[in-house]
Amino acid sequence: MSTSVAAPIGQSPEPVAVVGTGPAGEAAARGLIARGVPVTLFDEQPRSGGNISRVLASGPPTSLEALARHSGLLALRCGTRVLSVEPGGRVWFDAGQGAEAAEFAAVVLACGAYDLHDPVPGLPAPGVTSAGALQALLKGQGIVPEGDIVIAGSGPFLAVVAAGLVRAGARVAQVLDRLQTRDYLRLAPWGLGIPGNSLEFLQTRALLARAGVRMRHGVGVSEVSAGELLTDQDERIAFDHLGLSERFIPQTQLARTAGCALHYDSMGGYWAVTADDLGRSSVPGVYVIGEGQGIRGWRHAGLSGKRVVPAVMSDLDGRSPRRSPGRWQRAFLIGFARALEKAQARRARQASRADAVICACEGTRVAAVDEAVALGLADLSSIKVVTRCGMGPCQGRYCEPQVTERIRAAGHTPRGALNQRAFSRPVSVAEVLDDAD
Ligand SMILES: Cc1cc2nc3c(=O)[nH]c(=O)nc-3n(C[C@H](O)[C@H](O)[C@H](O)COP(=O)(O)OP(=O)(O)OC[C@H]3O[C@@H](n4cnc5c(N)ncnc54)[C@H](O)[C@@H]3O)c2cc1C
Repeated sequence: MSTSVAAPIGQSPEPVAVVGTGPAGEAAARGLIARGVPVTLFDEQPRSGGNISRVLASGPPTSLEALARHSGLLALRCGTRVLSVEPGGRVWFDAGQGAEAAEFAAVVLACGAYDLHDPVPGLPAPGVTSAGALQALLKGQGIVPEGDIVIAGSGPFLAVVAAGLVRAGARVAQVLDRLQTRDYLRLAPWGLGIPGNSLEFLQTRALLARAGVRMRHGVGVSEVSAGELLTDQDERIAFDHLGLSERFIPQTQLARTAGCALHYDSMGGYWAVTADDLGRSSVPGVYVIGEGQGIRGWRHAGLSGKRVVPAVMSDLDGRSPRRSPGRWQRAFLIGFARALEKAQARRARQASRADAVICACEGTRVAAVDEAVALGLADLSSIKVVTRCGMGPCQGRYCEPQVTERIRAAGHTPRGALNQRAFSRPVSVAEVLDDAD
């Protein structure tokens, strides 16, 4: 393996690595360099911005990219997948030329989230992706799908995706949101605390109404076939593209490679990294900010990036930390996010059909997982061995939350998340053996 980069193994470590250029990682990197601390900022995407501020691959430089050109303190490494983080600060990454490593005194993980849909009978099917994938293709590549689009699942993200597609000239026929109108009314008092949020919500709805998009509440998808879905109200709807999104799941794979403690969040239905309110994980020198702490939205992500800065600095130089900003704002944003998660949990599908595929990589069905749970297995690693859930290329990112839900539905307490000891991204043999050629 090649080990050549800024701070080769065996030499004194670079100060700080930040993984992720979303609002969390960007705020942390900016805060650290403003205090004179050099930062190496990684992102596997070709451009900086994370999920919410994703830009066209061919677009002009972002302000962060412009800053990196002029600041001697910021090394921005987009197009670089971070493969694993070792306790002690060794970071393995791949910029397309094989696995490389460097040592850092502190590693800040700001890896964000991904969107997930339920195991629906008939999936995988042509024309069906996650809603997030439709948005990412539009924002990052300028791809506007042709034909009738239906966006379905749960939560305000559906309308955001639909509005983005409409603005780009796509034909969105319907948005099916499992949340009911009264769920949004219950969330309204929280929204009033963030005026920008409420305004965006209303503008999005107005745009969809003007474009003739049917926005329906309290409707879910119960079955999919090629070009058609069946709602839970027995209505058939034709589509050319269907984007599904039920909820977000924190990206915790790198934190797992470092050995950070996780906890199961039953309201959100995911494993999140256990961190203190400044972002310190259970592993000294490894910090987790943004969605890795639990799904809290982009405002919280940016705030968590600011709050981690004093913690990293005081841990690096041994001085007691200065006050971190936004304690009350943080509590409010978490309260809002929890209220949304509660509404989503209340309206979630009550039962998964046995014939639905739960692990798309391995084609495992819900029935196979339920049989394993009925045998008394309540830990994901054992269920993985018996059903192959989690053995495919995504390494359980998509099926782990669903399998955990099956364990809970059977009345058991999940014993632990999947282990992630090796690289968090698929790596070809050629990349690993490049020095052996
Ligand atoms: C597909 C998608 C679209 C979304 N769109 C919206 C939206 O339009 N509006 C909204 O309010 N919220 C949106 N969200 C929610 C939103 O992601 C968060 O609220 C916010 O972006 C979180 O910020 P973050 O900094 O924690 O992570 P993110 O913005 O997700 O940034 C994380 C970054 O880490 C990088 N990364 C992760 N793992 C690695 C690795 N191993 N190596 C290198 N880089 C890595 C990713 O490439 C990504 O750029 C979206 C979420 C998703 C998943």
